Amino acid sequence: MEMEEGEGSTEEKYDVDIATTASSLGGSGVFHIINDILGFVLYMYQQIPSVLQDMSLDFDGLQTEFTDLEANLTQPDVKPLVRRKLLSRKREVKHEIKKMQKLMTTISTLRSALQLLIREAPGVQRVVLILGGSPLRPQKAYELFFTHSVDVLRFEGDFSKNKATEALSKKTIRALISTGAGSTSCPGPMRLFILVQAPPSLNLPQHFLPKRDFRYNRKFVPLKLRFKCKTQDNETNPPFNYDTNDLIWFQCRHLVNNTQASILAGNRSTLLSAPTPISPGFLSAVPISICLGHSTRGRRRKKMIFKIEDVTVYFPYDNIYPEQYEYMVELKRALDAKGHCLLEMPTGTGKTIALLSLITSYRLSRPDSPIKLVYCTRTVHEMEKTLGELKILHDYQVTHLGAQAKILALGLSSRKNLCVNPKVLAAENRDSVDAACRKRTASWVRALAAENPNVELCDYFESYEKAADNALLPPGVYTLEDLRAFGKNRGWCPYFLARHMVQFANVIVYSYQYLLDPKVAGIISKELQKESVIVFDEAHNIDNVCIEALSVSVRRVTLEGANRNLNKIRQEIDRFKATDAGRLRAEYNRLIEGLALRGDLSGTDQWLANPALPNDILKEAVPGNIRRAEHFVHVLRRLLQYLEGRLDTENVEKESPVSFVSSLNSQAGIEQKTLKFCYDRLHSLMMTLEITDTDEFLPIQTVCDFATLVGTYARGFSIIIEPYDERMPHIPDPILQLSCHDASLAIKPVFDRFQSVVITSGTLSPIDLYPRLLSFNPVVSRSFKMSMTRDCICPMVLTRGSDQLPVSTKFDMRSDPGVVRNYGKLLVEMVSVVPDGVVCFFVSYSYMDGIIATWNETGILKEITQQKLVFFETQDVVETTLALDNYRRACDCGRGAVFFSVARGKVAEGIDFDRHYGRLVVMFGVPFQYTLSKILLARLEYLRDTFQIKEGDFLTFDALRQAAQCVGRVIRSKADYGMMIFADKRYSRHDKRSKLPGWILSHLRDAHLNLSTDMAIHIAREFLRKMAQPYDKTGTMGRKTLLTQEDLEKMAETGVQDMVY
Ligand code: SF4
Repeated sequence: MEMEEGEGSTEEKYDVDIATTASSLGGSGVFHIINDILGFVLYMYQQIPSVLQDMSLDFDGLQTEFTDLEANLTQPDVKPLVRRKLLSRKREVKHEIKKMQKLMTTISTLRSALQLLIREAPGVQRVVLILGGSPLRPQKAYELFFTHSVDVLRFEGDFSKNKATEALSKKTIRALISTGAGSTSCPGPMRLFILVQAPPSLNLPQHFLPKRDFRYNRKFVPLKLRFKCKTQDNETNPPFNYDTNDLIWFQCRHLVNNTQASILAGNRSTLLSAPTPISPGFLSAVPISICLGHSTRGRRRKKMIFKIEDVTVYFPYDNIYPEQYEYMVELKRALDAKGHCLLEMPTGTGKTIALLSLITSYRLSRPDSPIKLVYCTRTVHEMEKTLGELKILHDYQVTHLGAQAKILALGLSSRKNLCVNPKVLAAENRDSVDAACRKRTASWVRALAAENPNVELCDYFESYEKAADNALLPPGVYTLEDLRAFGKNRGWCPYFLARHMVQFANVIVYSYQYLLDPKVAGIISKELQKESVIVFDEAHNIDNVCIEALSVSVRRVTLEGANRNLNKIRQEIDRFKATDAGRLRAEYNRLIEGLALRGDLSGTDQWLANPALPNDILKEAVPGNIRRAEHFVHVLRRLLQYLEGRLDTENVEKESPVSFVSSLNSQAGIEQKTLKFCYDRLHSLMMTLEITDTDEFLPIQTVCDFATLVGTYARGFSIIIEPYDERMPHIPDPILQLSCHDASLAIKPVFDRFQSVVITSGTLSPIDLYPRLLSFNPVVSRSFKMSMTRDCICPMVLTRGSDQLPVSTKFDMRSDPGVVRNYGKLLVEMVSVVPDGVVCFFVSYSYMDGIIATWNETGILKEITQQKLVFFETQDVVETTLALDNYRRACDCGRGAVFFSVARGKVAEGIDFDRHYGRLVVMFGVPFQYTLSKILLARLEYLRDTFQIKEGDFLTFDALRQAAQCVGRVIRSKADYGMMIFADKRYSRHDKRSKLPGWILSHLRDAHLNLSTDMAIHIAREFLRKMAQPYDKTGTMGRKTLLTQEDLEKMAETGVQDMVY
């Protein structure tokens, strides 16, 4: 962004805008804000090993270690081998002390310089902190604007931090964290520069040198913070009376050079990986953002190039795990064969980077082929992580190959995550953001705005439209944050820009729904070429995602909402009839041609596509009985009445779509073909009526979604009507569910359309079941183990309590007081043995509530809390996030904590409990689905009849993949270690146990298969003792776990492809 004089005026937009009082924004306040933001920037972008406040502690620790080493070396009886080790460590520590000393001196000089500056020019208005290679090439920049009170003119006080200043600092850091500042990583060591705008008379040549004409790259967007001082009567004072034209830039002579690399080189690598408790101002988000990251982070990034047959693979690290290499070999086989594949590899083994490296290198080796990578993730966090890895890889490939390696890669998400219009973003949920955006961008709204200037539009969309074909993203890798920054900088809407660029991108990262939900896929993914390689990462639940994409539930409240929607639509029709009947006539004529015209709609007018098979439907003419708007409303009214009648039942009913449609036809006179068109017909009508607040019309959309699906599919679905939830039969809560049983229906278009689809996860066992469930033939289907130099996973099957009574959550045993007591005693014993975090998973919320209530009554919970703090997952996301946050804090403090959670819950799916956050995970029971659920029973019946999958097999497979998913949370990298207890006697049976992934089974010894609580405690003690010993991280002899380029070359020479590990 160009730095123009006069910026910082009140019209300018700030990412953080803080109004404060004169008492907190004196000279001392300004100094402390700069100082704290400096610390924040250095720490959050990993340029210093610990927060500024704790550096002296670390420094003291190093000095103490140095003294101890010296004392040990003077001992007469030190063995030569030990002496060598001590000497080597002493050298390292000495080196680290020097580095840290230098860093602390620089920061201290910098602080003194800032204090001198504030004394000399107390009204300093603008300060810029820049992280990067030089001030002109910033990676991150934080611009601080101060609007002072007149008091600061007379600043003669000291720089001690008073309460008001401290509060202001905390508020600032909190605001920074909530804007997402510091949540991205910097690509390596950087330098930190400080520039200030001050009068030319400033004379501190030892500390500040004038730097005229400072401005950074036009494309760069700094993060802006404003501190506005208010007088007591709340009036903002005019800016400090320097004339901004008289101010010039000064650059501070003291640079903070990154010392992270050298400090990490020593054994103190835990400094970054195990964050020091943060000062209160840094808030809880700090440790979370720091602990998340790729498992290969500890490895220094360096070049690695090797061949897999005819493909030269570029891998951005200096070592590769053997399983990563094998994974690439198998993946390449699938790409060569132009077929689909299933690959299971444990988490923490660098699956993502292996996938990205191989596919991008494969693309580079075939420059004429239009190969595109479409990478599907489950969450936005995973999307950002993948793009972060891709950035590293892309930088490396470009450094090595130059411009030919340049690609365009972007993440695509909903408006909620990409919108930059603050007024729209203020809407509370995704649907409201969508609706608020439509209100400003729909074609008819824009047409109206041309006549009426009071109609509000979105400036970002208008600039994007104005740029027309020139609105393009230059090559590069764009995370969602990058897209937002780019959009803000150019003034273009990042959401529409990203959607437009999908057709040009080489790599697209988005969520499963963009391919699996036909409503979304029909809009976003329709342009993708056949040659695209589709990857579904963490795909162990892909069958459920497919099923959910095609299932609809209708409740009483849906029908009430839909009735209100129809009333509104009816009013709108009447209004249009009176004012613009031509529009309705034009729509009628268009419907005779079919709905295909919808494809020509502008991006802003597009709605979700048809939930079934759009192309089949769009080409046909819309049935005559729903072409006229009022007739269509009438048909929908009849449909609602019919559904209301069906909900009015006291018995559970189940029927097929065919019989449902025929009874609908006979009772309400609505034909199957009419039903099929409902969804598109509704959207056509809503557009004709220029309805933009789509979020209010969700109920009628749900009903039409249901109608179209039920009218389209004759098999693979059931309609189930239940008058109440079976677990609460006394509360009437009727629900009509159109339930899809066949996961292959949603994914079939993906398999048919694209030449290679990769389904991968850490948990795909038994791997032969997925091809049957999803109805496809993989050309490659492999499960990989994790190579390890030590047995860092310790799975155990606990079948009995300390009183030798069996434990299980089997229906007839789960409430047995003996089982509940034995589970409690197991936990009490374990928390006294295991340091740090312990995570417990239960089979359901109701079971967890029941067992914890009993533990509370019997005093077991009290015994647990005497050892560790206890936190719970609830169905409320905000509560759970808070609990997780505090759980981590407790673990960071060293006291450790217990987290109670539920299989199939949010925590089990997406939260990592790596390192000290999880040393033990206990799975209480086998997490079978609720087997009396009518939907589940219908699905089981369908699977048996259609795919010959037995009920028991499917239920066991499903329960065991959930259990594996839960216990897998505890180990997220090879440097990590953790124990897993499967606490249920049923796990000792071969038919259950054998369905666990191979990487868990390979560590499950026979001696650990039938344990009582006492035996498990003994094994836990032994395991933890073993893990506390130093070990060889690289592996030796036959157990080599890190391969270098030379190893791979040697293997190629000798023709050996399979590694021993
Ligand atoms: S056009 Fe883009 S920036 Fe404007 S409101 Fe819609 S999503 Fe937000």
